[in-house]
This record gives sequence, C-alpha cells and structure tokens, in this order.
Amino acid sequence: MPRTVKLKILAITLLSVGILIVLYGIHLWLGLLGSIFGLYYLYTILPSWNLFAKSITNVRSLGPNKVAVTFDDGPSLWTAKILDVLKTEDIKASFFVLGKNIERYPEITRRILSEGHCLGHHAYRHQKLRWRWLSQIRKEYDELTKVMASLQLKPDPLIRFPHGFKNPFCEWEARRRGWTICAWGRGVWDSRRPGVDVIVERSLKLKPGEILLLHDGDGDKENPDREQTYLALEKIIKGLKARGLEFVSLGEMPRCRN
Ligand SMILES: [Zn+2]
Repeated sequence: MPRTVKLKILAITLLSVGILIVLYGIHLWLGLLGSIFGLYYLYTILPSWNLFAKSITNVRSLGPNKVAVTFDDGPSLWTAKILDVLKTEDIKASFFVLGKNIERYPEITRRILSEGHCLGHHAYRHQKLRWRWLSQIRKEYDELTKVMASLQLKPDPLIRFPHGFKNPFCEWEARRRGWTICAWGRGVWDSRRPGVDVIVERSLKLKPGEILLLHDGDGDKENPDREQTYLALEKIIKGLKARGLEFVSLGEMPRCRN
C-alpha cells in the first residue's frame, strides 16, 4: 500500500476516534485534541487542500476537454527522452524541478523552457516539509531560486510541494513569493515502476479537467530508472487524444497571483 494512502488512513482514523470519544462523552478534551490533530494531519498530506494561498487543483477553467500532464523530481537523463515524445506528439506539459537536479542537467532544464513547457518549482532537495520551520522552508526555496537565477532560467510562478506535503509555513512562503500551489488529481505511482501497462491503464482513467502526476526524476537517486514512465508516455498521450482530450500546460492557467 502506498505510504500516502497509509498516512491518509491514519489521519482519518485519528479524526474518527476523536469524534467518537467526544460523541460518547468519554473525554471531551482528549476527543477534541485527537480530532484537531487528525484534521491537521490530513491537511498536511492532502495536496489539493490549501488554506492560505491560491492553488490549482484542475484545469477545467481552460475548457471542457482539457487535461494536464505533469512531471516531478527531474530533470534526469530520462527528461530528454520524455521531451522527445512530447515534441513528436506536439503537446505541452509541466515540469516541477529540483534544484540539485538542475545543477546536474542545466541544458535539459533549458530545453524544457525552450520547447514551450511549463517550468515550476519543486524544492532544492526533496524533503518532507510538513514538520519544518519557516526558516528551513525559506532556505530550501532560496537555494532553488538561486540555482535557477545563476542559470538565467525563467520559471513560471508555480510550486508543487515535495510529496504534496505541507504546513501553513509552506503556504505562507509560497504566497509571499507570488507562487501558486499546484496539486494533482491523479497519481499513478509510476515512480514505483509497476510496469508499463499498469502505468498506462491507471493514467487512461484520467477525467476531463484532471491533472496527471508522473515522474521524470527522483528525489534521492542521481540516475533513476524512469524507462517505464518514458515507454508509457506515448501510449498515454495517444489514448487520451483518442478520447478527444486536449493537453494544456499549467503555465496556461490564469495567473492566480496572491
Ligand atoms: Zn517530488
């Protein structure tokens, strides 16, 4: 079972047990404390639940049949191959990149922009930020923007938090920098390499307006194996096109400036 699903179950259990303790009058404060903690825990792990800054959770505002393909944790050597597929299929996608990987592959990062795709912020490393202080979160984003500036890259004012995990500090810092938070509607766990056919099958369940999450890199490994994602991509795009769906990049969304 994916870790995020386990965390969701834990948070919902905490919330439910807390509510039951209050309802049955066992211990009011213990129940309330459990419920509040469960709710907060759920907030930290749900990428589409943002309270303090504007966010993009779907692309429905761009038209009835639009979908978006997004890639996290790159760039890597596989990004170049993925860009080739996107070029052949003539679609635009969105890439949420890591500072440490941009340093390894600056030319591939430049190619993302020069070929008209959206380049968004992910982080410098790939830490879970939900239990970090504001100063630690700022350091993470300062290092990322410094790398981008040194290479004269002009990213879109968009951010996706590593793992989709956050706390209010993450949101406040995004808001202060004028970045819009980008969630996703369908994750297919391609980073766990379940097989090309499984990735394709899960991705083709995408509904109009939804944002698909794939991975062209890795938060920890310098040379990740993203062959399955690469091989699945062409089939995913062709399958979604056959259903009459059109692809947009998140850079096309009206800027949700705070
Ligand atoms: Zn990530």
